[in-house]
Amino acid sequence: MAKRDYYEVLGVSKTATADEIKKAYRKLAIKYHPDKNPGDKEAEEKFKEAAEAYSVLSDDQKRAQYDRFGHAGANAAGFQGGGFSGFGGFGGFSVDDISDLFADVIGFGGRRNRGAQRGVKRGNDLRVKVKLTLEEIASGTSKTLKIPATVKCSHCNGTGAEDGTAVTTCSKCHGRGSVQQVMNTPFGQMMNESVCPDCHGEGKIISKPCKYCNGQGVERQENLVTFSIPAGVSSGDIVPIRGKGNAPERGGANGINGDLQVVIEEIPHEELIRDGKDIVYNLMLDLPTAVLGGTVEVPTLSGRARLTIPAGTQPGKILRLRGKGIGNRYDAGDQLVNIMVYIPENLTDEQRKIFESLKGQAGITPDKNTSNSIFSRLKHIFS
Ligand SMILES: [Zn+2]
Ligand SMILES: [Zn+2]
Repeated sequence: MAKRDYYEVLGVSKTATADEIKKAYRKLAIKYHPDKNPGDKEAEEKFKEAAEAYSVLSDDQKRAQYDRFGHAGANAAGFQGGGFSGFGGFGGFSVDDISDLFADVIGFGGRRNRGAQRGVKRGNDLRVKVKLTLEEIASGTSKTLKIPATVKCSHCNGTGAEDGTAVTTCSKCHGRGSVQQVMNTPFGQMMNESVCPDCHGEGKIISKPCKYCNGQGVERQENLVTFSIPAGVSSGDIVPIRGKGNAPERGGANGINGDLQVVIEEIPHEELIRDGKDIVYNLMLDLPTAVLGGTVEVPTLSGRARLTIPAGTQPGKILRLRGKGIGNRYDAGDQLVNIMVYIPENLTDEQRKIFESLKGQAGITPDKNTSNSIFSRLKHIFS
């Protein structure tokens, strides 16, 4: 298959600035990130393609070579095409490049490898969606889920080598994981660096693979993971659970597990509407209660609550139930009860007489002063 033009891959012009290239790559990398598209081969290919294009176009020297000689020129400049393994270990990239690209977007990318010792492998993150009711969100909750993940093989302690057999340094690449070849190109001889065919970039050779894990160093397991979710989360928020992701392949004793990323999804409430930390409830009052006052029951996130309606409550008035919103008892939002008044539509003859007797009476028909004062009290509706 013919390789696509790197500029085309990133969707930028040949004259794009370094910043434009970085932005374009960032967009694609987020869209096709393996964490976001688990098991999607096409996304993974696109991700790698974008990474390769970025690794060349973000390097002034490689970009100049590429502009002059195309893909052959870029390869000659030392790009290890196809050296991608997992995330955080492909040719032409330093781990910090990636961290910086993702840190503020995914929110935990920066932790990926920073501070980790060189040579220590980290497993992939896992992602799980958790649906929460508004009640659970209001006060925070804890969940226990069954998470299928890879764990360190107990037979070989994660090395992938059968007990007692040696893990030796690859003799072809001397542990570097890559080999250099002299290539004849139309532009003369060039050095090409590629992934070591003997050790597939690992730098190590296992003479006798562990038969329990086929040399992978990991086995599949379903873990019961219990975690707590703080109050006040919203749909799309991610709560990272450290170390509950996959174990790395052949990570050995020092291998670090990835994280479990819990993605929050809020289940809409049947009666209550969330507005940030506040909860809104639309209450339809009957006309006599609005006029005479009374007590009504309203739903809240912590059960039903009694609410006193003062006599003469106008439609559009908002009554506030303090602390009945989202959050803990030290810092919670309120529940806002938005008053509406039901105007009866089908009256009996007797009811009709009552209304007719009220018509035109003083105190029933608003005058200019009462109208103005009510409008100014309900200003929030019109603003
Ligand atoms: Zn094993
Ligand atoms: Zn090798």
